[in-house]
Amino acid sequence: MTRQRQLIYKIIMNTEGHLSADEIFSYAKAEMPSIALGTVYRNLRLMVEDQEIRQIITDYGPDRYDRNMIPHEHLHCDGCGKLVDITFGGLKELLENKGEIAVNDYQLNIRGLCPVCNAKQKKIRVQ
Ligand SMILES: [Zn+2]
Ligand SMILES: [Zn+2]
Repeated sequence: MTRQRQLIYKIIMNTEGHLSADEIFSYAKAEMPSIALGTVYRNLRLMVEDQEIRQIITDYGPDRYDRNMIPHEHLHCDGCGKLVDITFGGLKELLENKGEIAVNDYQLNIRGLCPVCNAKQKKIRVQ
């Protein structure tokens, strides 16, 4: 494993949530000033191929990278822009049981409010 890849891996494993390539790049640059954005992208692609991390493609912003390999969905918060993990098991089984299809992978794009923004919203309504 190259030093660059080790560093990128460490950043993703030590950071809560879902980072974009730009965010990973700025963390990496702080520790390794010579690292290039292209290097970050290349290593992220390799790590996704090797199933060390997951790439989340959303319609609402840049791709994010996720250290959590346990199957889960993502809610994009309209309030703060964060991606929030949602565990919603059984969809693959449901789809496969309904027809003759086989599901290899899927991504759901759910939009709404995260717990923090939802609580704020509710407070405003009550007042
Ligand atoms: Zn939010
Ligand atoms: Zn996630």
